[in-house]
Amino acid sequence: MLPEASVCFTRRVVVEFVDNHRRSNLRVMLRKQVAALNRRKFLKASGAVSLSQLWPRSSFASPALRRVRPSDANWPSSAAWKRLNEAVGGNLIQVDFPLNACMSSSQGAECKTLFANLKNPYYIGDSPGITQTLGWVDGWATKPSVYAVAARNADDIAAAVDFARDNHLRLVVKGGGHSYQGTSNAPDSLLIWTRHMHDATIQQDFVPSGCKSTHAPQPAVTVGSGTIWAQAYDAVTTKAGSYVQGGGCTTVGVAGLIQSGGFGSFSKHYGMAAAGLLEAEVVTADGKVRIANACTNSDLFWALKGGGGGTFGIVSKLTLRVRDLPELAGGAGFTVKASSDDTYRRLIRRFVGFYRDALFNDHWGEQAHFSPDNKLEISMVHLGLDTEQSRKVWQPFLNWLAQSSTAYTIESEPEIGSMPFRHWWDVDWRKEHHHDVFKADSRPGASPMNVWWNGDGGQVGWVIWGFESLWMPASLLQDDSQEKLANALFSASRFGGVQLHFNKGFAGAPPEAIEAAKDTAMNPSVCDAFALAIVADGQAPAYPGIPNHEPDVAKGRKAGDAVHHCMNELRAVASSGGAYVSESNFFESDFQHSYWGDNHARLAEIKRKYDPDGLLFVHNGVGSEQWTRDGFTRL
Ligand SMILES: Cc1cc2nc3c(=O)[nH]c(=O)nc-3n(C[C@H](O)[C@H](O)[C@H](O)COP(=O)(O)OP(=O)(O)OC[C@H]3O[C@@H](n4cnc5c(N)ncnc54)[C@H](O)[C@@H]3O)c2cc1C
Repeated sequence: MLPEASVCFTRRVVVEFVDNHRRSNLRVMLRKQVAALNRRKFLKASGAVSLSQLWPRSSFASPALRRVRPSDANWPSSAAWKRLNEAVGGNLIQVDFPLNACMSSSQGAECKTLFANLKNPYYIGDSPGITQTLGWVDGWATKPSVYAVAARNADDIAAAVDFARDNHLRLVVKGGGHSYQGTSNAPDSLLIWTRHMHDATIQQDFVPSGCKSTHAPQPAVTVGSGTIWAQAYDAVTTKAGSYVQGGGCTTVGVAGLIQSGGFGSFSKHYGMAAAGLLEAEVVTADGKVRIANACTNSDLFWALKGGGGGTFGIVSKLTLRVRDLPELAGGAGFTVKASSDDTYRRLIRRFVGFYRDALFNDHWGEQAHFSPDNKLEISMVHLGLDTEQSRKVWQPFLNWLAQSSTAYTIESEPEIGSMPFRHWWDVDWRKEHHHDVFKADSRPGASPMNVWWNGDGGQVGWVIWGFESLWMPASLLQDDSQEKLANALFSASRFGGVQLHFNKGFAGAPPEAIEAAKDTAMNPSVCDAFALAIVADGQAPAYPGIPNHEPDVAKGRKAGDAVHHCMNELRAVASSGGAYVSESNFFESDFQHSYWGDNHARLAEIKRKYDPDGLLFVHNGVGSEQWTRDGFTRL
């Protein structure tokens, strides 16, 4: 079991930085970019009106009923692929499948090296043929596309979109590659791979295009859609001393996270990452490059804010709101074990009350874990408090534990403190202050900035057995409901580890953050929830057909059942919760309602408007009901 599954900022991070803080008194592919080929110039040079005329049209009636596979007679000819390659400046690549290294022998050196690399998210991110999650037992297993366009800009993306549409190909998009649902890979497909589009430019006075009369200039950062959060935080916080709301995990892609809504450690104060989107450059299914913001294509803009990735268009650039950086951030981490089921119930009950009274505000985010071995593990972060203030907050709870020392054993001592926020993602500063919080890309020549939180290591290359989420309404924190919530958490913990992610529910957030969240496509339940509950389980890198590295199907199914039973205990008290599209069950029932609530109807309309023929398909995405599960055949 991976006890910290889905945890982007774990206890270890908190403990290590606070530990260091205490000790030191505030130790608190691509090829190089080739000259951009202007699509319009290319069209002019070729004398074509539309790129689509460069490749032969298939004999299918449009819209396609069945997409074309390499084994079909209608698969584009080599000459057609060659023309696409020319259109994208030589950046069409045939996709390798790294796991082939193990197909002939799983004992060879090549296979061993591969499995070591599968624990490195930067190796995975640099390989267009694999994904950060390798699969889901009984759900999916990662498979390479046939070809990938390693896009440099919107024009490359448009050329790939036109080619896929006109040849009835299955099209797939990959940024950071972190989809748990496998929505950024598909066999027999053409991939648009944005990995190398990661420029970041900060502007002090950004006004969305067409919004001059309604929007005051404000600081913003524009990033290429292949940017991962480590790169965005480096540009905005470490280098420029400002704040941008992104995700917790450093290797998640900006475009994928924003389109699913997106939460980071400090979202309880700053709100949803998607709510900070000011403008996007998007290529829609008709091959047009569009600007989407509050004043231009505002329906598309709204859908991009939480309507799910790979569905409404292919984003080439995103401009995000930039804010002032508070001076301090920090955390609190410790683990307590109860001596019996009864004392564990009491501990949970006490913690629920303490959370409501002391932590249910925009200072505190991240997680509490409740596990079957009667442990409560705290790995929380705070914003804007100094060390003394943050310790004072926890003192009443720690006093209560101390008074019941026969019932409760502190397994790891409380580490509570703060540090300068500017250095939160600062690799050099963390190193200098002996904060052992990051793992680093150890490949020769790798950038020293290629790091990921220790706590995220368990999910690199993993295979999922079960993963479910549920928004927990704040009404459960009322005096007369706390007992019910505590009992549900206890009952759930009999089946597996339950995580409450407090930063992924906006009850307790500032009104401005809640209002901004309401203007996104995410399930409105998020605004009334004090936390997102997550239950997940999985195993280290594995792949079907590789001896000694096979997914453990029997164990996986059992674990998947346990995850489901565990979550059902919480559903019994939070039935209307809904789930977070990006962190949810591959087999989610009624996903439309669960992910988007009443917003689904509007999303479906926008999908019909911008992609009437369903070129963009992802598993359990808006409009996916009209296709077979593999996205190849229209139902
Ligand atoms: C280890 C780990 C930690 C995570 N931590 C958090 C967290 O702290 N907070 C949080 O909110 N979520 C978190 N997530 C969930 C994550 O935000 C989503 O899985 C997100 O969609 C991943 O984006 P990506 O670009 O990395 O992945 P991808 O798999 O590349 O993309 C995800 C989806 O977006 C689509 N997409 C990607 N790029 C584009 C584009 N340019 N245009 C259109 N569609 C595109 C893809 O087709 C796919 O459907 C985590 C996931 C993992 C695996």
